[in-house]
Amino acid sequence: MTDRFTGRQAIVTGGGSGIGEATCRLFAREGAVVTVLDRDADSAARVAAEIGGRAAVVDVRDADAVTLAVNEAAEAMGGLTDLVNNAGIGTAVPLLNYTDKQWALLIGVNLTGTFYGIRAAGPIMLAAGKGSIVNNASLTAIRPTRGEGPYSAAKAGVLALTQNAALELGPAVRVNAVAPGMIHTPLTEMVVSNDEWRTAAESGTPAGRIGTAEEVAEVIAFLASDAASYVTGQTIVVDGGSVLPSLQSDALLRAISQAGFG
Ligand code: NAD
Repeated sequence: MTDRFTGRQAIVTGGGSGIGEATCRLFAREGAVVTVLDRDADSAARVAAEIGGRAAVVDVRDADAVTLAVNEAAEAMGGLTDLVNNAGIGTAVPLLNYTDKQWALLIGVNLTGTFYGIRAAGPIMLAAGKGSIVNNASLTAIRPTRGEGPYSAAKAGVLALTQNAALELGPAVRVNAVAPGMIHTPLTEMVVSNDEWRTAAESGTPAGRIGTAEEVAEVIAFLASDAASYVTGQTIVVDGGSVLPSLQSDALLRAISQAGFG
């Protein structure tokens, strides 16, 4: 086991479930003191208790509550070296059927919540002269998915925000993002537990399977770690290769290659 995060203090938003929970566990295992920030009090308390960390019950859409929780966490942990803006929600509705309320919710949690986290943590990290922020975006920021218009727009905004924050908070603070494809968490349980949908997702992915929360946490940890000390403003897609398009079927490829060159 490595100890990449010894002496570091991290806040993980949405840390009570899925990718956020796996990230809390990995950071804590590798030495960090972790604040598990989530709107769900029970999940935050459960994960915090299991990793010996702190829980903060906050809705990331609430600017004042985010600022207060970030300041309290930094105070209680003796500093703040890492922020993982991971809290997010998704849904699928045809674009023209989205209501104002649904639009505001998706943008509010996924994009505005990420901004609030950066705005609260940035000054603390700049004052300390060091820090890392990793934002959890989505493959849908890069490749549209039917039914996920506001979610895609919010996540594309997260990528833009990542680049902007990297420019404005450097050199002291690095800011990067991950863009996961289909990952098995409570968010995607409905798709994963449906044989037809799961098979479709798996067959469109070179890795041949759906990813795990731990596999995304590993990439978040890499970006946060000193191993990525010269990486900022970047996004790593964690999708088993599903973004790679191919209109050429295996059968067509075989036929063409058997026909030979020329
Ligand atoms: P999840 O539902 O398992 O976990 C999300 C956590 O965020 C939950 O604990 C939830 O309580 C918390 N949360 C939601 N809204 C919140 C709010 N307003 N304030 C504070 N906490 C809030 O989902 P997950 O799959 O682990 O997703 C984590 C992140 O990864 C999200 O940003 C999601 O968009 C992104 N993502 C997930 C997938 C996937 O396939 N699972 C793919 C791409 C991106």
